[in-house]
Amino acid sequence: MAKPQGGYVAKKCPARAQWDTVRPCEPLRDSPFLQRLFTRGREFESGVVAQLLELHPDALVVTQRTEQNGAEREQETLQAMQDGVPLILGGRLPADPVSRRVGEPDLLVAATGGGYRAADVKRHLCLDIDGIPACCSSLDGVAWETADTPASARKRKDDLFQLAHYQRMLEAIGMAAPGARLGAIIGTEKLVTWFDLDAVELSHEPVIDVYDSEFAWRLAIIDIANEHLADPNVELAVGPVRSAECGECPWKDWCRAILEQGSGDVSPVPYMTRKARGIHLDHGTSDRAALAGLDYSTASLVAAKVDLTPIMDALDFEPLDTPLRGVIGKRRYRQLEKLNEAGFFVLGDARKLCPRTAGYPPMGGLPGQIDQAWAVLGDAMVYRRRGVINIEVPRGDVDRCRRRERRGGGLPLGDPGHQRAGLDGIEEGYRPFRQRKGTARTRGRTGPARTGTQARTARTRAGTQRRR
Ligand code: SF4
Repeated sequence: MAKPQGGYVAKKCPARAQWDTVRPCEPLRDSPFLQRLFTRGREFESGVVAQLLELHPDALVVTQRTEQNGAEREQETLQAMQDGVPLILGGRLPADPVSRRVGEPDLLVAATGGGYRAADVKRHLCLDIDGIPACCSSLDGVAWETADTPASARKRKDDLFQLAHYQRMLEAIGMAAPGARLGAIIGTEKLVTWFDLDAVELSHEPVIDVYDSEFAWRLAIIDIANEHLADPNVELAVGPVRSAECGECPWKDWCRAILEQGSGDVSPVPYMTRKARGIHLDHGTSDRAALAGLDYSTASLVAAKVDLTPIMDALDFEPLDTPLRGVIGKRRYRQLEKLNEAGFFVLGDARKLCPRTAGYPPMGGLPGQIDQAWAVLGDAMVYRRRGVINIEVPRGDVDRCRRRERRGGGLPLGDPGHQRAGLDGIEEGYRPFRQRKGTARTRGRTGPARTGTQARTARTRAGTQRRR
């Protein structure tokens, strides 16, 4: 059985929950970029906590986390809630062994009618112009009862799932505030933005319900992964699906190898959404070869929302010289227009259509996906996009292509052959670029690479000259 999980598991890729359990290889370390994000996040959180402590001297800060003190911190947090401390910082909610949840909300805010509401500190903006309705309180008020500023907030699934997770944990110990299920995020605006977890919707469902089903699904995946560990004959529940999350995932190399097997999964095709991948699987298109085998012309009609089903059905029993107008219905002017533009006038013309492609529902990106799959599987390095005759890449007098340098060759896409203007006295062409140390101000300037000492000396001189 899966051990209790934090709120993060519901918002992560399902395959990640599985690999975290199975650990099929050594996970990659966090990239420097991710480490920097974490560090800055922690710094921001410490700043907000310090500010809150100044404004709320009666707030309780729960003992800092160590590897072993989870149970004591849970007890300390529970005791503080039972004592009615108005603001608890850095607490740890008692683990819920039944629903298998653990959670550490940054803030627990006492409600007027009893109980608590959870809030988290996040180093990102919470408010947006075209967001969802929310209400804000200031840092010196914090509580929902003091929230009197109507706002428009960003609908961030990750944040909402985190709050839903804490809400369920508070409910499990009978410490949730009565009434609406509310949780808050303190973003970089330094405002406490409150969200109603029953009112905010994701995919037309209240966010709390979506969180419940996502969390339950991850637990089921982890359970099956544990069964697989005990008995390798048990098949794992999910496979990898390429998404934006893969870039910083510790299992990306492992997943890439799986996704590239055979002609490759369709998910790495650019702009392929999970929903689109699901449609492809429903239509038997399980890899890139099958995707590349779809017909572009038929896909263009599908993408233009032409319903090809009556035409494909009529092919079996109507005379081939029947005008398409009589097949698709007289009122479908726009569809008829699209068919005529594509060269389809009578039923017999429709024999050129691909039945498999014609069976797809309207998918705007389908023709592009076919071309992308085709290009990946083809032999050439670069393909010209359909409809592009001449490639003109506007150039500056001096530019750098660091990617080209890193790869040690190859032209940037669309560069037909090094035809670049040079500055007076400077020979045309590419020159090696070397990353050099220095300040953000000095980094990226052209010129010979310098050692760290040389760069420091140069900076000191520049500073001295400026002061003069
Ligand atoms: S690499 Fe991508 S598919 Fe694989 S576990 Fe990570 S996020 Fe999921």
